[in-house]
Amino acid sequence: MSFMREKDGEGSIVVAKLDDLLNYARLSALWPMQFGLACCAIEMMGAWSSGYDIDRLGIIPRASPRQSDVIIISGTVTFKMADRIRRLYEQMPEPRYVISMGNCSNCGGPYWEEGYHVVKGVDRIIPVDVYISGCPPRPEALIGGFMKLQEKIRNESLLAPKAVQNLLGKNSL
Ligand code: SF4
Repeated sequence: MSFMREKDGEGSIVVAKLDDLLNYARLSALWPMQFGLACCAIEMMGAWSSGYDIDRLGIIPRASPRQSDVIIISGTVTFKMADRIRRLYEQMPEPRYVISMGNCSNCGGPYWEEGYHVVKGVDRIIPVDVYISGCPPRPEALIGGFMKLQEKIRNESLLAPKAVQNLLGKNSL
């Protein structure tokens, strides 16, 4: 980010690109939806415990998809849940992001071969921005995933919002 600070005697002026300012605001207040699927969700909840305190990064869970800009897919994605996940994702306002947490969500995990009821990767249903490997990943890994997402948001531009990119087919499924 390129903030330029100039002293003008009594006060000071901060000059920045609008993209940088908006991206800074967005990446500093990511609101994930309160949503968990399986054992990975326990580690996700641990990230909000006093030991990890992920809130200090401005990551505050919300109870409604309409107030959320991130959804963490933390657990096994069964075919039964696939429609619900897609519907929740579609209820989130743009710009919206997806973190796939754990091997189950990434590719089916231990159910890869024999799990007839498991979707072999949530990216077959919704576009994923950050993948976190592990079975389960630790809360530190989730914090690292959020940092990756923050880096991605830092480099986005108002001229190319995600919705437009999706329409152009760059991120479409
Ligand atoms: S990746 Fe492992 S810990 Fe996470 S939901 Fe699947 S089986 Fe459970």
